[in-house]
Amino acid sequence: MKRILMGTCGLLLVLVIVFACGSPTSVSNDVDYNRYLYSHGIYGYTGKQPIFFCNNYLYSIDDNESHMLRKVCKRANCNHSDSTCSAWLDTDSIYVQNGRIYYISSDKLNHYALYHCNEHGEDRKRVCALPFLDVSGAGFSWRLCGSIVVFDISYWSLDGISQDILYLDLDHLNKDATIAFHSESEIVHSYVAPETNGSWIIVKSYDLLTKECSLLGYSLATNETVTISSEWNKLNILVLLPETMNWFSPGDGFYSLDLHTMASRKLWDCKIRGFAMFDDSYIYISNANNIINYENAFGTEETQGLYIYTYEGHLQSFLPFADEVQIAGYLGSSPQKVFFMKARGSLLPSWYIDKEKIGTSSITFHEIKQ
Ligand SMILES: [Zn+2]
Repeated sequence: MKRILMGTCGLLLVLVIVFACGSPTSVSNDVDYNRYLYSHGIYGYTGKQPIFFCNNYLYSIDDNESHMLRKVCKRANCNHSDSTCSAWLDTDSIYVQNGRIYYISSDKLNHYALYHCNEHGEDRKRVCALPFLDVSGAGFSWRLCGSIVVFDISYWSLDGISQDILYLDLDHLNKDATIAFHSESEIVHSYVAPETNGSWIIVKSYDLLTKECSLLGYSLATNETVTISSEWNKLNILVLLPETMNWFSPGDGFYSLDLHTMASRKLWDCKIRGFAMFDDSYIYISNANNIINYENAFGTEETQGLYIYTYEGHLQSFLPFADEVQIAGYLGSSPQKVFFMKARGSLLPSWYIDKEKIGTSSITFHEIKQ
């Protein structure tokens, strides 16, 4: 827990600098890049290297000029092509924390458990059993932040579909999982896209009859639920940090909410429509008609590309989507690089940009060889 707290403090410090100085902060090793995820379960950063997960295999990238994607297995006599390879995991998604790769798998008796392994897929250890997943007709996704693991579980039965958003505290494994949100009929009402920062669980709440969407927060400190916004734009993409929740509202602007006071404020106006993701230093907006088919078009093809802004709304770089980079979607960040993937197809990274080149004329998409 101490290491987690220290990491959190480091991140807070960086954020304070970002907001106070009005310019991108220098890269700090204390930043936890595992908090800046848009696509959950396919990217993590160990503190030394990025980890990518696709079709059961763990990959990383050579840090030399070739930038080849490679499976993380280090065994010389392995052909890296079956489940005996240490890069192979019997799971759907991964999270990285404190240099360890966490995953959920089931044993021969179909009992689910949480495990972790090192950056080569070795030294595999079982953390705890997950008996609430051992239910026939259950489907789930999960998130990990700090000691908190959040599960989004749907149960199919003859009576219909129900849903639980529940969490486990890895620091208190003697306690049972706690239900934060429950829906009796996922057909009428459902919770979508839970996020956690270790203190809060935030979910979008859909009423499928009225088509209304609200944003709810569950405090792990008080076990109380609060309505953060009763009218939430379902296209908003949020990033949950230790003290704040930041989000981009397409065609509108950037917002930040203080999780202590629950007061929100608009950071700046932004008329661009598209997907936006943030890391500790920059905001990356990827806009192209093919990603989301908005009612209002983006305008001319010349304005479609990757926009990189500071947190204060200063445009640093614009990279048009040229023929070789048709559409790039944010995948994840590391201290040196930002990784992008194709809008459709493989979940592996196809390009990266050098963060130190942001704001210079030499910034470009570099291809990652697969
Ligand atoms: Zn191998």
